[in-house]
Amino acid sequence: MRVMKFGGTSVGKPERMHQVSQLITRDGEPTIVVLSALSGTTNALVEISNSLSAQDKKGSTEKIDALEKHYALFINDLIKEASLKTKAEGIIKEHFEFLRITQRISLSDALNKDILAQGELMSTKLFALYLEQEKIDHALIPALDFMCLDMNDEPDLTLIEQKIKVVLAQHPTKKLFITQGYICRNAKGEVDNLKRGGSDYTASLIAAAVQASVCEIWTDIDGMHNNDPRVVDKTVAIEQLSFDEAAELAYFGAKILHPTCIWPAQQGNIPVKLLNTMQPSAAGTVIKKEAGI
Ligand code: ASP
Ligand code: MG
Repeated sequence: MRVMKFGGTSVGKPERMHQVSQLITRDGEPTIVVLSALSGTTNALVEISNSLSAQDKKGSTEKIDALEKHYALFINDLIKEASLKTKAEGIIKEHFEFLRITQRISLSDALNKDILAQGELMSTKLFALYLEQEKIDHALIPALDFMCLDMNDEPDLTLIEQKIKVVLAQHPTKKLFITQGYICRNAKGEVDNLKRGGSDYTASLIAAAVQASVCEIWTDIDGMHNNDPRVVDKTVAIEQLSFDEAAELAYFGAKILHPTCIWPAQQGNIPVKLLNTMQPSAAGTVIKKEAGI
């Protein structure tokens, strides 16, 4: 089993979803695909939430309307088949109705997390519909059925392992699974999340839980660079890193990786590959036990 995670920019445009569908079916290997929200969505949801907590009805309405328009255009480009287009419209309608209902209730911490979860719920449902259109056999497995936190709000890897095995066993004939990054349930059973950028963490936790052969993190840069490419010219991708080196780099701000996402892979000794969706043939960076350089 292989785990492949795609960030917001990798699924943020209909043609990128097409590219992702090709990458995840490049060979016959059973794969769990972890998706982030479409780029910009989680930020927009945070802003909606801020307007709601400031009781700015006009502001939240404008932001919800703008985001809904974005999704309407997105599905119009993504889904061509009429019956699937109707399904996609239904999905979007349901999620935006939920957002509008939140305007009428007072915002609690739990409701705020429900709002933040909408991005990954929508991206995975739309991607699954796209796969249906392309006749690519798959199962959409809800992260909320197996990604869970313990009493200290830390991921409970033992429980995740037990739960994901049950979920996967429900689809004995499937080889391709789609799930949400970032979202999970806390010890109270409420919807929660692994903090901003947490989809990498989801991927690494799932990889450890299923003892995956590899955890591939697909973004829009070809691996971890020797310098910050946004600041320094002519940086090069580092070919290999040890788990400790990668954790240190992520901790000190290399934006490509969520800082906490190394430990589950390290614990399960699962190599993590940082790869570029825009340049799939580039070697990227491999993070494993011994760097070997
Ligand atoms: N969508 C979430 C965020 O933007 C999680 C992620 O992208 O990893 O923070
Ligand atoms: Mg994101």
